[in-house]
Parts: sequence; C-alpha cells; structure tokens
Amino acid sequence: MPTVAKTKSQENKSVTPMMAQYLAIKSDYSDSLLFYRMGDFYELFFEDAVVAAQALDIALTKRGKHEGEDIPMCGVPVHSADGYLQRLIRKGHRVAVAEQVESPAEAKKRGSKSVVKRDVVRLVTPGTLTEDNLLDARAHNFLVSIARSGSSLALAWLDMSTGEFFTTGSAIEDLDTHLARLNPGEILVSDRWLDDPAYQETLQQWDSCLTPLPSARFDSQNGEKRLKEIFEVSALDAFGQFNRAELAAAGSLVDYVELTQKGKFPLIKRPVQQAASDIMAIDGATRRNLELIRTMNGERQGSLLATIDRTITGAGARKLAADISSPLMDVAAIHYRQNMVSYFVSNSKRRESIREILRKCPDVERALSRLTLGRGGPRDLAAIRDGLAQTAELRAVLTDDELNGPVTGISQASKQLGFHAEIVDELTKALAPDLPLLARDGGFIAKGYRVDLDELKTLRDESRRHIANLQAKYSTETKVPSLKIKHNNVLGYFIEVTPRFADNMQGDFIHRQTMANAIRYTTVELGELEDKISRAADRATALELELFEALLKKVIGWGSMILDAAEAMATLDVSASHAELAIDQSYVRPEVDDSFTFDIQGGRHPVVEAALLKENEGSFVANDCNLSESSRLWLLTGPNMAGKSTFLRQNAIITILAQIGAYVPATKAHIGVVDRLFSRVGAADDLARGRSTFMVEMVETASILNQATERALVILDEIGRGTATFDGLSIAWATVEHLHDMNKCRGLFATHYHELTALSEKLTALSNHSMKVREWKGDVIFLHEVGSGSADRSYGIQVAKLAGLPAAVITRAETVMSHLQEKDQGTSKTKLVDDLPLFATVVEKIEEEKAATTPSELEEKLRSLNPDELTPREAQNLLYELKELMQDP
Ligand code: ATP
Repeated sequence: MPTVAKTKSQENKSVTPMMAQYLAIKSDYSDSLLFYRMGDFYELFFEDAVVAAQALDIALTKRGKHEGEDIPMCGVPVHSADGYLQRLIRKGHRVAVAEQVESPAEAKKRGSKSVVKRDVVRLVTPGTLTEDNLLDARAHNFLVSIARSGSSLALAWLDMSTGEFFTTGSAIEDLDTHLARLNPGEILVSDRWLDDPAYQETLQQWDSCLTPLPSARFDSQNGEKRLKEIFEVSALDAFGQFNRAELAAAGSLVDYVELTQKGKFPLIKRPVQQAASDIMAIDGATRRNLELIRTMNGERQGSLLATIDRTITGAGARKLAADISSPLMDVAAIHYRQNMVSYFVSNSKRRESIREILRKCPDVERALSRLTLGRGGPRDLAAIRDGLAQTAELRAVLTDDELNGPVTGISQASKQLGFHAEIVDELTKALAPDLPLLARDGGFIAKGYRVDLDELKTLRDESRRHIANLQAKYSTETKVPSLKIKHNNVLGYFIEVTPRFADNMQGDFIHRQTMANAIRYTTVELGELEDKISRAADRATALELELFEALLKKVIGWGSMILDAAEAMATLDVSASHAELAIDQSYVRPEVDDSFTFDIQGGRHPVVEAALLKENEGSFVANDCNLSESSRLWLLTGPNMAGKSTFLRQNAIITILAQIGAYVPATKAHIGVVDRLFSRVGAADDLARGRSTFMVEMVETASILNQATERALVILDEIGRGTATFDGLSIAWATVEHLHDMNKCRGLFATHYHELTALSEKLTALSNHSMKVREWKGDVIFLHEVGSGSADRSYGIQVAKLAGLPAAVITRAETVMSHLQEKDQGTSKTKLVDDLPLFATVVEKIEEEKAATTPSELEEKLRSLNPDELTPREAQNLLYELKELMQDP
C-alpha cells in the first residue's frame, strides 16, 4: 500500500495538485487521522482510510494512484460527521479536520487549475470535545496536564466544555489518587516520563488517554505568561500562590487548547487552586471498590452516583459527580453545603418550584463554550436565552426575609444568579421560533427584528409570485398558453415553450437552448428579476450572519456572568437533589466536626437498599457503627453472605456523603472529618497490570499501612485470603496489630479468620463484632444484623448448599470438615483420606502447615525443663533422652 509522504519536501511532481495539498497537510498531522473536506464529505486517504474504515465499519474504496498504486479512500458525510468522530475518539484516535477555507470562485481567481485552499481548523482529541453528542451531558470531561519542576509535581485540569479550571500540587505517590478522582478524558505528560519508572506504573493505567508532548511544552515561565495574558492580569497573586510545577502544568494545558482549537480559545474560569488538605484522599482502588461513579463493570447504573442522583440539569449532574469524587475536609465548607440542603428539606414547596424551573434550563455552560470556539449555532443562543431567562424565576422563589440575613449558600447562589433581562430580551426579540442547527443555513432571525432583513426576505420569498406574474404576462403577449418559466442550476430562470410555438417568440425573447421537445429563452427583464431575487437571498443570508456575529459578541461579552449563573443553578440543583433524596429515602443531616468520632446509628447502604427494593427482596436491615475511642477498630466476623461487605462499605459511603455536604442514610450520624479513605477487598486480580490476586492485595495493604494517619478511615474486607491459610492469617494478624498500634486510625476489618478475635484481649481499642444468623433445620438464615462478640463459624458449607453445589459435594465437604475439626481438637480416630488422592494432598498440606506451627516433643521437653533444678546425673540422662527424641521425632 502506498504510504503517506512524511515531509513536505517529498511532495511528488507526479501527484495531482489536490493530492499534493493533502500530503502537505497530512505531514503536519501524522499522529492524527485527517478528515479532508471534499464537497459534502470528509474523505480519508492512505492508512488513515484503512484505519477509519475498520474502526467505523464503512466501505474502503480507492481513488487515483500514488507511486503506481491505488490510493485507499473512505469518507463520511459532513452532516453526520459528529457520530463518526465520536466513535473514532472513543477508540482512542485523534482527528484533524481540514476544511475548505476559500470558495471555488476565489480559488479560480488564482488560476483555473488552482485547488481550493484547505486548512486544519480543529484537532479533535478526547480531552477537547465540546459537542453535545460527543460528550456525556452528566459527566465532566477533564483535560489534565501533569508537570514537574525541581522536586515538586503538580496537576492542572480544565473542562473545556464548561470552563472549569483547577490546579493542585501532588506528591508523586498521590498521582494515582488524583487521576482516579478526575477520571480524565485526556492527559498531557512529558514524553520523557513514559520510560521513567517513577511514573510508568501510574501512567500505564491511563495509557489510552495519554498525550505525550515534548518536555519543553511544560515550561513554568511560559505558563505564567500565558495565564497572565488570558486573564488579563499583571500578577497571578489574586488567584493563588502557584508553584512552578503548577504554572508549568497550567501553561501546557492552555497551549494545548490553543493548538487543538487552532488559535480559538474557550471562555475559562479563573484557575482554582486546590490544596491537598481541601479534599479527602481516595485512591483508585477504593473508588472502584466502593463503586462511587461507576460499578466494577464500568457502568453508571448501580453506582453510588446513579443511586443518589436526583439532579435535573446536566450541569447539576456534573457538579454532583465532581462532589462525590472530591469529598471536602473543611468543616465550615461542609456545613455551608449542609445548610443549603437543610433549607430545601424544610422548604418543600420552594424545592419543588426550583426543580420545576430547572427543568426548563438548557445546558448554558456547554452552549457558551461552543459559541466561544466558533462552533455554536442559533440553537446555542436560544439555550443561553432560555437558561438565563430562568434566573429571574429562580430568584423569585428564593426571595425571602431570611436571605437578607447572614450570607448562606442559598443567598449567595441567589446573588450569583445575576440579572440578565437585557440580554434575554435581546435574544428573545432576535431569534425566530424554529431554529436551524447552523447559522449559515439562515432563517433564524425573527420577523420584526430588522426591517431591512424583512424586506430582503419578502423580496426573496415573493419571487414565486413575481415569476408567476411574469409568466402570465408573457403567455398573454405571445399567445402561448403553455409557456412556462422554469429554473435549473445551469441556466437559472428561463422561459420554455414547445418547438411549434417558436415563431411566437419574437422581440424581447433571447434564445438560450433548443431541446428535442422544448425551446428555452430568456429576457432582460427576467434576468434582472433573477438577479434581484438571488441578490436578495444572498444579502438576507449575509445580513443574518452579521446579526448572528453581533449577538454572539454580546453573549461572549456577557460570558463570565453566564458562567456565574450556570454555577449558581448547578449548586441549587445539587442541594435540592440531596434534599429530595433525603425526604424520599429518610436520610438525616449528619453532624460533622473535627473530632475523631464515628458514630452511625441505623446506617444503611444506599445502593444495596435500592436494589432490594427494586427486586422486591425485603427491606434493608439498618446497623449501628460506633468507632469510639475504646473501640476504634472493629473486627467483624460472620458467615459468608451475611452482609459483612455491605456493612463495611456502607460506613465508607456514609462518610463520603457526609463530607460532600449531603444527608446520609442513617437515623443519626456524627463523623469527625476523615482525611483519607481506604477500602480494600482481599483477592481481586489485576492481571492487566501483571499482578496476581495476592500481589494486588499486598500492594494495597502496604499502601494503607504506610499512609493511614489517625484521621484515616480504613475498611479491610478479608485481607489475607489470597494465600495459604497460615500465611494469610499471620499477615491479617500483623496488619490488625499495625493498624491498632501504629496507624491508630478508625477502621473496620472483616475476616473469616476467627483466630483473630483473640487479639481483642491484647489490643485495647479493638472490639469484636459479628453478623447474626439463625440456624434452622440445618440451613442458615441471615439476619443481616451486626451484634457484639465474635462468630463461632463461617457456615461456608451451608452457603455453598444455598448456591446449588451438588449434594454429593456438600455431604463430602461436611465429612471433611468434621474430620478436620476433630483433628484440630485431637479427637480424630478415623483416617479421612481413603481413595481420593486430591484430598490426600490437601489434607497433608493442612497437616504440614499445622505441624510447622505446633511445637515438637523435643521443643516441649526443652521448654519444660529448668537447668537449675537438675543434678549432673539427671542432666546427662536428659541429654541422652533429647538426642533420642531428635532421631525419632
Ligand atoms: P462474603 O463473606 O461471602 O463476602 P458478606 O458477608 O460480605 O459475604 P455481603 O456481600 O455484604 O455479605 O451481602 C450479601 C447479600 O446480603 C447482599 O447482596 C444483600 O443482598 C444482602 N444484605 C447484606 N446486608 C444486608 C442488610 N443489612 N439488610 C438486608 N440485606 C442485606
């Protein structure tokens, strides 16, 4: 297959001028697929065509030859290009869109063989999308940049479709936590890092969205300069004290946006600097494990977010998702949000009215972003009009005497909504009721907005009547009743008669064309009318475009006010959503403070509860969890399927909800702020990263033991089960001790190693709890209740029976278990291993493991003797005895 020339110098004289132009453009975008505009299609050539045809499942054809070989080609229609773009972006491709940047007439002026000039007008990458159909309306799409300066590391991130812009410093070991929180669409990193062992492992997980750039792009001086330019300030102090790494990251981000948007820049908010101490740290494994935004299978349905999301607008949903990903640590900030929720809980009427109004609010943030990037249309203007129009309605509902008192979130949001009557009025007057998607399609300016436009349109629209009048006049004058005035693209308007009336066409009629059964004419008068009609149409379109630009300018000039209003609407939406949920599901306002308290009464797991309700499988059993000073670590034992994992996770989830300022599923809750949340389940493979089940478990446990402070909350679910019984038990044992003595954090530890319960005698802040069950006719009934004390057994065989294991296996398992128990107690008289070699190895192994830890007779003997009490003779006899024991163990 012919390959694309890599440099402009390779432009080949034998290629057509169009192919030469294609190759020249392509050489600048070798890492992207090139959408090359030809008429109503974007065409792709060479390898691009092969790749795209396969990715999009469209026909691969060919066009012309290059170096003697066919050029592969495929194409997508311009009007449906967005759908194809979406699929290519999802599959990890980048697309450079080359448009015609002059008209064919302009090209002709440069010579009859000139090719219409084309240029890349946009580079479509996963992190720089703005179109509604390329984006998830209810999720942010962050473009993240990571940069280093000296020993400091920082991230900057931007959602181009909403203008939100942040920076934060980060320790290298927290990089994973930050990325997991932001879930970026695209990550910019220095190409040098890809082979750097310090970053390799973290970056590998985000492989599909990495965009490596030359390290020179991450220059802090450039970053500072660019930020000052964009925000038109002479110093950045007002925004925060950014370190060099933050400036470098922010600068590379801004440059990249400009590069991909070909110089156009979206409206972005001032950068908000986040400190590590602002946000609860939750690493990727914990997020996955708690299924905060997505389930383990990657679906939104069934996640915590989906379960508690009662927001109405896209912006509200995005804010809620961002909040869940970043629980706060500042108690005052948490109370500020809680107060807003409480306001809506106690003002149901207002809440309902606000939600009703929000239903009429389109996504103004994303409409504005498209308009600023020159990608918006009349419908985006209408979205801004409709969204802003609702601000007055929202304020009217919120107006209240109490809002004139101290500043609350509600009064703040009410102010932030702003006053937009003027611009709403202008847009209302300007826009027609039915709007086209693109401004160039025309017809979007309302009647009565501009007299001159109305006149032009009347002229254009009345063309039919003028033509019909002229036709009637010519028909009478020439006495040809069948005379018609018609139109086609070659001749424009013409008069047509059948050949037998040719003689009637004298005087003003100028012959244009003779066909087999028709003769065509024109007249000066018809020419003038046609000219007038087409000029009117052109002028109407031009005037509409002019008016569009003027409206656009006004809207963009109003941009920061629009973003403020949008933020206020999102805040109201989220607060009302929490309130709606609280009332609907009986959630309560938790007490959050700086203490080390963790006292949840009647706590529930929102997702499991919702699932039980949906499946009609009974009601959820609420449970208390009080990690008080004297029992800050709970060791939870109990049968399989009894609800241990659910209990563990529900307490982590309640903590997150409390720290995002929401109400929680409990009857009462008091939580001293948690700075880091860890949640781990033993045995979860991460084969993609080349780690076995046990390795993952240990790496994760290590990170907890190394990082958890007094303020952390640690949830460990069956740690140590991925290896041999005694190794696992020993690791679990030592882990509990370390958490208790060294980390001193609050925590819940679920285990099937009942031996661990003995630790509570030694560790003063460790207490035993268990899931209650009832046995009935050999079966086990789960009560899902957490009680104090430890469980006596795991009921694994009963659960296996419930799961449908064959009866023969269950019976055999029961025999094996009772034998093992007898062995354990030293009462076994029978030999278990008869004819099953498989069991022989298992049992031998178990016995070996036991033997390894049971002291031998020799050891027992040595331990029991006291040398001071022995006579020399006794000592000598003892030596003989010991020697014998050694030979015959
Ligand atoms: P295993 O030890 O096998 O991992 P487990 O003890 O961790 O089991 P879970 O996975 O938490 O058990 O719960 C099993 C099922 O029991 C859940 O899917 C849910 O349907 C139900 N369940 C758990 N907790 C409750 C509860 N408090 N009220 C009602 N049903 C519950």
